[in-house]
Amino acid sequence: MPEVGKLLKGVHAGRAFGLLAVLFIVAFGVAVLLLAADQQRVLEANDRLQERTVPEIIRYQRLARNLEQLRQEGERIFAVSSHASRQQSMFVVTLIASHPSVLEHPQAARLAREAEQFLGKVVSQSAQDDKRPAAYYDEWQRLAERLGMQVDDVSVEGVNLASGDLKLASAAMKLARYKLMAVLVLVGMFLLAFMILVRHHLIHPLQRIDRALSGLSVEQPAPVFSTSRMLEIQAVEEAIREHHALLIQNEESRRGLEALANKDGLTGLMNRRYFMQAAEVELQRAQRYRRPVTVAMADLDYFKKLNDTYGHAAGDTVLRAFAERVREALRQSDLVCRYGGEEFAFLFPEIATSETEKLAERLRADCAENNVVLPDGRQVKVTVSIGLADASECPIEIALKHADEALYEAKRLGRNRVVVGSSPMVTNPLQENP
Ligand code: GH3
Ligand code: MG
Ligand code: MG
Repeated sequence: MPEVGKLLKGVHAGRAFGLLAVLFIVAFGVAVLLLAADQQRVLEANDRLQERTVPEIIRYQRLARNLEQLRQEGERIFAVSSHASRQQSMFVVTLIASHPSVLEHPQAARLAREAEQFLGKVVSQSAQDDKRPAAYYDEWQRLAERLGMQVDDVSVEGVNLASGDLKLASAAMKLARYKLMAVLVLVGMFLLAFMILVRHHLIHPLQRIDRALSGLSVEQPAPVFSTSRMLEIQAVEEAIREHHALLIQNEESRRGLEALANKDGLTGLMNRRYFMQAAEVELQRAQRYRRPVTVAMADLDYFKKLNDTYGHAAGDTVLRAFAERVREALRQSDLVCRYGGEEFAFLFPEIATSETEKLAERLRADCAENNVVLPDGRQVKVTVSIGLADASECPIEIALKHADEALYEAKRLGRNRVVVGSSPMVTNPLQENP
């Protein structure tokens, strides 16, 4: 018969969990790489902010401040009445207009140059008188307004530059947060799947195996396992089934050997050794509860002569036939053994010697009245002598000795009779010879 375990398809637990671990490492590695890329983007945006954008913003602030100062100096040229003060302001205007922070911004540089030229013209024309140059003030107002707008534009440009980088960095950080959440969910799902797989394919089968092993006995049927996918578990389950089959086989062998060890091979009755053990236990029990108990010894009469006349095999047939009659006559609780040769020992619990005597007498009469039929059809008359003794107050060996003495008395009185203790009872006065 093919082994059940070999028919089942399955996977090695080591391989299955190894595959799961590889999948987990790959998925987790990819997620970590994606996260690292996002972090890189955040770092780059931060570096850009520090190295490029912040100096840029400072430059824009400086430009705005210079343009504002240029406007204020222009305003001063129109406000003061002293030519020297106007020249002083004009000097500052010239400095600002040629300042690198202004020159590197083309639009601001053009406007600064226009303001410088206009204010230079105003200062040179007002050099002769000490009055304020009011004639050009309207035109200056328009120019100053443009300068103010340019200051606002430059400030807005600086802010825009910074917020662009900040937006980039915060977008990358937001993306990284979502990815981190996705990674956590992924790890959670993997752990959950791992736990379910371990529970379903390892813990539950191991619990079933544990239950099966605790309840494994010859009295219980072979354990039935619901099929596991793991080859290792299947192998253990198969080993348990084989172990159970072996237990049953061993138990059968043990029972067989026990029966052989306790039985007489020819008659199938108990052997002497087993009888002595069982009888001792029974006797102790009866004596403890003060219950009546009797023993008997039986011996087939002139058996040597029977052997000599009909042959040894015929003697064996007679022994078997006698054993069969004994089995039919006795109660379930009575003990009987082939004591040796054509001698038999009995123990009758729960009945007094007078009752046992009747039982023994029935057995004797049954033997005497019914010939044994040999395999070749010949009939043999067999008689038995029986000695009885009360066993309620002495050890089994002494009780059997008393019964043997009674048996000897039965033989002495002519055989084919039952004798109780020291008072012989002649049940059949006719001496019958085979
Ligand atoms: P008594 O009436 O005094 O008991 O005489 P007996 O011939 O029966 O007694 P004895 O002890 O002289 O002979 C017993 C015989 O039983 C001797 C032996 O050959 C025979 N015997 C013992 N065991 C077996 C056996 O297993 N099979 C057979 N066929 N004969 C056996
Ligand atoms: Mg004998
Ligand atoms: Mg005999």
